[in-house]
Amino acid sequence: MISRIDLRGTTGDPRDALPRAETDVEAAVQKVRPICEDVRHRGVEALIEYAKRFDGVDLDGIRVPAEEISAALRGLDPAVRAALEEAIRRTRLVHRDQRRTDTTTQVVPGGTVTERWVPVDRVGLYVPGGRAVYPSSVVMNAVPAQEAGVGSLAVASPPQAEFGGLPHLTVLAACALLGVDEVYAVGGAQAIAMFAYGAGECARADMVTGPGNIWVAAAKRLLKGVIGIDAEAGPTEIAVLADDTADPGYVAADLISQAEHDVVAASVLVTPSTALADAVEAELRTRVPATKHAERVTEALSGPQSGIVLVDDLDHGLAVVDAYAAEHLEIMVADPQATAARVRNAGAVFVGDHSPVSLGDYLAGSNHVLPTGGCACHSSGLSVQTFLRGIHVVHYDRDALAEAAPHVVALAEAEDLPAHGEAVTARVGRPAAHRG
Ligand code: NAD
Repeated sequence: MISRIDLRGTTGDPRDALPRAETDVEAAVQKVRPICEDVRHRGVEALIEYAKRFDGVDLDGIRVPAEEISAALRGLDPAVRAALEEAIRRTRLVHRDQRRTDTTTQVVPGGTVTERWVPVDRVGLYVPGGRAVYPSSVVMNAVPAQEAGVGSLAVASPPQAEFGGLPHLTVLAACALLGVDEVYAVGGAQAIAMFAYGAGECARADMVTGPGNIWVAAAKRLLKGVIGIDAEAGPTEIAVLADDTADPGYVAADLISQAEHDVVAASVLVTPSTALADAVEAELRTRVPATKHAERVTEALSGPQSGIVLVDDLDHGLAVVDAYAAEHLEIMVADPQATAARVRNAGAVFVGDHSPVSLGDYLAGSNHVLPTGGCACHSSGLSVQTFLRGIHVVHYDRDALAEAAPHVVALAEAEDLPAHGEAVTARVGRPAAHRG
């Protein structure tokens, strides 16, 4: 069901040997281009037509009435409500600590640079809703935006035929719990275009965040620049670094839980222990047929993006998981804390036997919108920082400018941009050349 890749005795960059999903976003960009153009020019009329074509619903309008949002909360299962409230509380605790404070640096007497952290004014949150329902994504996107101080937040999520064209009611209830009252029943690429260009009641946004399928990723790639984006989320992935102290049942359960997301989801075990590899395979053979989405899980685990990777030892394993740069990395080894401290590349690290990824998906307090496809070697997951811009505010008095003038003039002349120097000498006179 799951292939083995034997990297024992190999050195050098293992990236080419590691399993990884490939998606052709570029081909999807060509398909969503006319959709985005159409939304730009025809607005709500186009959105209503795409809702009919892609979601199979007839809509009168795209804005979800306020009473439908509060009705969804009233109808929410109390256990789900309690879980969402707790998820919001924990996620808020962590993200509140991410807030930035302005800093002022006195560069020279009379010359300061202040870095002011200013939230993005208006953000569109995309909450997927094609094959599954993701109220947790509302929490993971809205909380950091709110903690950053974003003033205007709107949510878009696909209209559902079973709810008469409303987004999934649990998504609406999550919006109500978070105090988000601007919600649109719009899905896919057309939702990203709606936020980028504005349509009807939906004013254009400065930024759009949130996961989605390949059409959503393609629209983000196409419209990046027209609108700010967080990242193009690719298929989800887990790497587990485990040794022979790990419980094979836990490892198998976590590989399966990730595979449950999608047939292209990646589940990778990296281990120096063939005994553990064998035991995990045996667990998979009994657990997979018993899980609800066995077909999807089987396809994901047997796909080229998943596998069990054998390594020489823990150091080799660490080099391999760093090269893979997983969205989610679990560490189940003899000293998990010490090993986790050595990890350099991962979207999030889950340490020890009692910190599974599914805890992080919902309730750990950490964010579940994380870099995929190896992007964890240069990018972070969604955070308060995503929604902030650092603005440098420069203030020099005359003496400080005069003191800097010779250097400015020298560099302006070296770049053959003499007018740059003249903008300074116009204020403080031509300086004597700086010496020493
Ligand atoms: P989705 O909301 O992303 O996409 C549904 C929309 O796709 C539809 O409303 C429709 O407009 C559009 N669409 C469908 N077929 C189309 C076509 N042929 N051409 C153009 N547009 C079309 O929902 P989904 O499909 O269920 O995908 C959600 C994705 O988000 C999954 O891959 C899931 O794993 C991922 N996800 C990731 C995270 C994360 O944090 N990384 C969280 C939740 C979900």
